[in-house]
Amino acid sequence: MGMVTRALRRSAETRGAQVFLGSRVKRVIVKGGKAVGVELDDGRTMYSRVVVSNADIKTSMLGLLDPDALPTQAKKSVESLKNMGVSMKVHLALDGLPRFREGVDMGLASSSIIHIGPSLEYLERAYDESKYGKPSTRPFVSLEFPTVYDATLAPPGKHIASMFVQYTPYRLREGDWDDAKSKYVDVVLDTVQEYAPNIRDKIVNTHAYSPKDLERVIGIRGGNIHHIDVTLAQSFGNRPLPGWGYTTPVDGYYLCGASTYPGGGV
Ligand SMILES: Cc1cc2nc3c(=O)[nH]c(=O)nc-3n(C[C@H](O)[C@H](O)[C@H](O)COP(=O)(O)OP(=O)(O)OC[C@H]3O[C@@H](n4cnc5c(N)ncnc54)[C@H](O)[C@@H]3O)c2cc1C
Repeated sequence: MGMVTRALRRSAETRGAQVFLGSRVKRVIVKGGKAVGVELDDGRTMYSRVVVSNADIKTSMLGLLDPDALPTQAKKSVESLKNMGVSMKVHLALDGLPRFREGVDMGLASSSIIHIGPSLEYLERAYDESKYGKPSTRPFVSLEFPTVYDATLAPPGKHIASMFVQYTPYRLREGDWDDAKSKYVDVVLDTVQEYAPNIRDKIVNTHAYSPKDLERVIGIRGGNIHHIDVTLAQSFGNRPLPGWGYTTPVDGYYLCGASTYPGGGV
């Protein structure tokens, strides 16, 4: 996936754009009701004709603007958008590919995305628990081995596994993710082990992102991979909010990316 953003960057640079990596925008500068530039974390400021934010709408409108830059009603509307993430990412460094249980084609399994969600009832139960602040007892796991396609991602003979795990609510009813995360990785591995019995023997290291980590590391409020929920009320002309489209109530300040129509997804 990194190649996509690299290609976008090259394309933009050949058209004269300048890209600053690792530069957090601290705030959008608004003068006389119009967005005129940005101030970076390191104190640098840049001025422009328009400002376009690809950060999630809550960060863009509540985090990057001065509190008085947005009309009260618009602020309330942004605050009320539903954006609580329910997914987690678990990465494994492996000594080799695991064996799959009898009857599973090893070549096909290791070169595919394996979705562990054996029935609609399984998925329904997994989701239902998350509504009450509990991560799924048996999660819906999407497992793949990127090194099967790109051997440069690990030393010779070694592999990585990437698991997309649902449903893991941002707000836990009991405890918090910093304490719960490693225990929950065990639940994920128990689930995978039913299909790949020796997975644990192959693990050299694990690394997981809870919804809180997605918020902290990537900067998405609520850790929602689509920035805000993709529900009917937040889709089509209602996304991000009725009447907004890519514009905002602040003149010269625009939104793009997953918070806007048509929503998230690569
Ligand atoms: C674990 C996971 C699994 C996914 N799986 C899939 C999948 O299988 N298929 C699929 O199609 N989609 C998938 N997605 C969704 C997809 O990645 C997103 O929808 C997509 O990345 C959204 O792109 P975007 O550019 O709109 O926003 P983002 O990728 O969220 O980009 C927003 C950027 O803004 C930056 N930012 C935030 N605040 C600031 C600031 N103050 N200053 C500077 N920069 C800032 C962030 O760091 C981030 O780089 C997945 C996402 C996750 C997290």
